[in-house]
Amino acid sequence: MSVFEYAPAPESRSIVDIASSYGLFIDGDFVDGTSGTSFKTINPATEEVLSEVSEADAADVDRAVAAARRAHDKVWSTMAGAERAKYLFRIARIIAERAREFAVLESLDNGKPIRESRDVDVPLVAQWFFYYAGWADKLDHVGLGVRPRPLGVAGQVIPWNFPLMMLAWKVAPALAAGNTVVLKPAETTPLTALLFAEVCQQADLPAGVVNIVTGAGATGQALVEHPGIDKVAFTGSTAVGKAIARSVAGTNKQVTLELGGKAANIVFDDAPIDQAVEGIVNGIFFNQGHVCCAGSRLLVQENVAEELLVRLKARMSTLRVGDPLDKNTDVGAINSREQLNRITDLTAAGDAEGAERWSPECVLPDNGFWFKPTIFTGVTQAHRIAREEIFGPVLSVLTFRTPDEAVAKANNTPYGLSAGVWTEKGSRILAIAGQLRAGVVWANTFNKFDPASPFGGYKESGHGREGGKQGLAAYLQAQEGDR
Ligand code: NAP
Ligand code: MG
Repeated sequence: MSVFEYAPAPESRSIVDIASSYGLFIDGDFVDGTSGTSFKTINPATEEVLSEVSEADAADVDRAVAAARRAHDKVWSTMAGAERAKYLFRIARIIAERAREFAVLESLDNGKPIRESRDVDVPLVAQWFFYYAGWADKLDHVGLGVRPRPLGVAGQVIPWNFPLMMLAWKVAPALAAGNTVVLKPAETTPLTALLFAEVCQQADLPAGVVNIVTGAGATGQALVEHPGIDKVAFTGSTAVGKAIARSVAGTNKQVTLELGGKAANIVFDDAPIDQAVEGIVNGIFFNQGHVCCAGSRLLVQENVAEELLVRLKARMSTLRVGDPLDKNTDVGAINSREQLNRITDLTAAGDAEGAERWSPECVLPDNGFWFKPTIFTGVTQAHRIAREEIFGPVLSVLTFRTPDEAVAKANNTPYGLSAGVWTEKGSRILAIAGQLRAGVVWANTFNKFDPASPFGGYKESGHGREGGKQGLAAYLQAQEGDR
């Protein structure tokens, strides 16, 4: 299939000032880490070192928790909700004003296409703060109890796939409800969280309300195990989520876990095929498939499978893979060598187990971490690529004959985060959605997010909800008769 030729249209990176090194953000200031150790964060599209970032140890986490406690007790929890709202609105406005800077920095540090960081991630981040700012002065009036109280200090640990967006999902509701936070970004993507710390300074947020401790898994562990926190909010892998659940068992800490997924995207024979193809592509190739709710299992009705696959392959042949800062790029870099190895290993298991691999022709850059958009056909439910989360641009295609078979296959997974249904019939959408054990079910669309809509999983995808009023309740003390 012929593809339009596009001249390169690179976004300028001159809007971003990246310091050669960063400290930790504790009690309103950037400070050196106690141990003096640091780690490098790189641009995964080029392997260029972007900056050196301090590694927080247990003593630093302790300082950050103490700062958050002071800020909670003396300033933030006692402040009128209407006053807290002003800070949140200010943060939202500054993010919107500095949107281009955030988008370029996110694409540099993470590898995602600028088209996505500019049009999806950063706008949603601003929306999240605007949305929760609007709640801060209404907590007494919306069925969350009489004068609902915050939990206290929240320890928040987030992954690398949507670094700034996951920060917003965690920080905005926590602050609106009167909690203070200590947040640990992922090791490979700390830079937008550190720019967010600058935004907190710019907004004159009282010292200690937001603290950012950079580091790897050990820093996250020190944070979630710290006795001084009242709430753990974690987004990441199911394995680490289970370890966290064990560590908070028997404590008074509240916990929200947003974990992995293996979502079914179900296409019935009456679905508008071209629209479904767009939804399938968006479902699995958005953000290189580094999406917990990605539509990584395509379930297509057998009588339209052949036609749909022809059109899907044609559409995939038009995807442009390459420089994340090029505005024409559809699929950017894989976030790390480690993640690339994981994707390579799991897809090799697909070959070994007899599934058939297909990728469009595309030339990958010499440096950096890349993986071609890939589909596997001839996949059965027993295959590892149908059961395990690949977290990359890889789609496993299965077929079904009847709606019951579609539902049975869709639910045949340890996960339950999201699902998609494609059909012309509204009644079928409702009937199928009601039977799917998934926290979010999209109908004739995929990967759409809204701050007013709660998001979260069943089974091994975690528990608790983020977003909406439910996401706010997760940062407030339970009232008599609740929960
Ligand atoms: P991960 O290894 O679990 O890491 C997530 C975060 O936890 C990172 O900040 C990580 O630090 C930290 N961490 C690692 N070990 C820890 C420990 N023992 N105690 C406390 N914190 C620890 O997950 P990942 O592989 O980076 O992220 C991908 C996973 O996240 C996928 O499974 C995906 O489905 C899931 N995810 C879920 C959602 C959702 O909303 N449900 C959203 C996005 C991603 P370092 O990275 O610095 O080592
Ligand atoms: Mg990086």
